[in-house]
Amino acid sequence: MNSNEIEIHKELKKYFGFSQFKGLQEQVITSILGKTNTFVIMPTGGGKSLCYQLPALIQDGTAIVVSPLIALMKNQVDAIRSLSSENGIAHVLNSSLTKTEIAQVKKDISSGLTKLLYVAPESLTKEEYVAFLQSVPISFVAIDEAHCISEWGHDFRPEYRNLRTIIKQLGKVPIIGLTATATPKVQEDILKNLDMSDANTFKASFNRPNLYYEVRTKTKSIESDIIRFIKQHKGKSGIIYCLSRKKVESIAEVLQVNGISAVPYHAGLDAKTRAKHQDMFLMEDVDVVVATIAFGMGIDKPDVRFVIHHDIPKSLESYYQETGRAGRDGGEGHCLAYYSYKDVEKLEKFMSGKPVAEQEIGFALLQEVVAYAETSMSRRKFLLHYFGEEFDSETGEGADMDDNVRNPKNKIEAKEQVVK
Ligand code: ADP
Ligand code: MG
Repeated sequence: MNSNEIEIHKELKKYFGFSQFKGLQEQVITSILGKTNTFVIMPTGGGKSLCYQLPALIQDGTAIVVSPLIALMKNQVDAIRSLSSENGIAHVLNSSLTKTEIAQVKKDISSGLTKLLYVAPESLTKEEYVAFLQSVPISFVAIDEAHCISEWGHDFRPEYRNLRTIIKQLGKVPIIGLTATATPKVQEDILKNLDMSDANTFKASFNRPNLYYEVRTKTKSIESDIIRFIKQHKGKSGIIYCLSRKKVESIAEVLQVNGISAVPYHAGLDAKTRAKHQDMFLMEDVDVVVATIAFGMGIDKPDVRFVIHHDIPKSLESYYQETGRAGRDGGEGHCLAYYSYKDVEKLEKFMSGKPVAEQEIGFALLQEVVAYAETSMSRRKFLLHYFGEEFDSETGEGADMDDNVRNPKNKIEAKEQVVK
């Protein structure tokens, strides 16, 4: 270790209490400290926040962190404040602040106390704020959830498209973009829109070797099939995703009638019921949550043993995120998706009301899901290839963890022909 490395290890311990960096964190931090544009692609839970928090804390000036969700920003600010005795070390700048609060934020930034300033993209466009930020030293700008800049991402936010113009007005400051979206298309969009083709890029592997991937044809007996599956995983925690609220309710009921402890979760339930059902799942008062995609954001239950998709998801990106909630502890995680072409047509019909450009993207993403469901190759290889990652299906970690590898389709077909 050279003196710089020793230094950042010491700071890691001092601020966060960790004795080791996770994955590529150290390389990323070194890149940021070198004042170079940096692009970080790491799966959810990979430890992206620390990549900008640590360099912000140890450098002069204030780092601006752009993030799309106010709740997320507040959490992070609270977490940073708890690491320090100074409240002013981190602030959020948004439209909900009073004049007095804004004055305090500006004072703390001007005095050099504030190391991290979280802003929503729409606040950053305000002229008043831009003028102020031009007058103070900025260490770098971090753009979290950078996929929001791309229409090919799962969460496009038009305000993200203005970021580059505003950052340019702040002078020569390095940019760090971070995302858990690994598709090459989204990555290209990010680099292009942020005008940082020169960025040092760090991409972690998206392989989840402990997850088992399986696709079953959806038939009329899907409900009894799911019940049988759950009974084979008795007492284990699992999530079942459905497309509609109505389906969530009916599946939850069918499970209950069959003696499986299950609760529904969707945006149509009131906040109190949703919170209650989520807690019941986390506290293991119930085994199964039947949910729409509204469930799971920020859920960190380490021992989810299965994720079932009753209906196919709208993109492989969502599929990866949703199945990623299984096996966080490194233990078993069975990811089972039911597939029928009728569902594809249903999703296409949903999309037909949308603007043409959005429709085209939607169809293209859906076609990838169809290809995944119908493929006879290693599902892991297929998924990782979609994320721009080469996977060796002979020797890669988790290579035998899917239905196609365990029961190759061509063999089954060959056998059927012999029987005929
Ligand atoms: P991401 O934004 O990539 O989804 P987070 O930044 O939220 O991930 O971090 C995920 C978890 O990893 C957090 O609980 C964080 O405290 C933890 N973490 C981050 N870096 C380290 C580290 N070096 N050692 C141990 N835990 C870490
Ligand atoms: Mg994050």
